[in-house]
Amino acid sequence: MNPFKKRRKWWDSGLKFSCLPDCGKCCNEPEGIVYLSLKDMSRLASYHNLSLNEWIKRDCRKSSDGRYILKSNQEKKICIYFNDDLNCDVYDSKPDQCSAFPWWNENLVDKNSWEKTKEICPGIDHPKALIINKKTINFWIEVDKVSEKGVKDSELSF
Ligand code: SF4
Ligand code: SF4
Repeated sequence: MNPFKKRRKWWDSGLKFSCLPDCGKCCNEPEGIVYLSLKDMSRLASYHNLSLNEWIKRDCRKSSDGRYILKSNQEKKICIYFNDDLNCDVYDSKPDQCSAFPWWNENLVDKNSWEKTKEICPGIDHPKALIINKKTINFWIEVDKVSEKGVKDSELSF
C-alpha cells in the first residue's frame, strides 16, 4: 500500500445539504459554543468599531480550558448575536465556525455523528438539498480545525 495515498473518507462521494432560509436552528442552541479564530475576533471587533480588547471584554467569555468563545444571552443561554427575528446580527462578519457548520470535524467523525447532526440541522438530506462535494467539505473541515484550536490569552498581545 502506498503510505502517501490519502485514506478515503466516508463522505468522499459528497453529502446532501442546503442551508434553509429562516431556519436558524444551529444558532438557537442553548449552551452552544462558538470557538473563535484570531481573524474572527479582529473582524468582529472592527464590525463593532471597538478595539480588540474592548470587544473581547464586551462580547467574549472563555471555555473551561481558556479558549475565547462568544458570550451567551443570560436568559436564553444562546449566542448574544442571535436576535428575536431568528437572524444573526453580525451575519456578514460571523465567526468562521458558524460559516463552517455543519461541516465540523466532530459532526463528520463517522456516519453516526452525522446522523446526530441531522437532529439539529434540517438542511441535511432535505428533499431540496444539493450534493456538496468532498472538496468543499474538506475546505470547511480545515476552517473548523483552525477555529476549534481557538485563541487563549497567551496568543494576544495586550
Ligand atoms: S440548522 Fe442547518 S439549515 Fe438551519 S440555519 Fe443552521 S445550517 Fe442552515
Ligand atoms: S454569531 Fe451569528 S451565526 Fe454564529 S451562532 Fe451567533 S447568531 Fe449564529
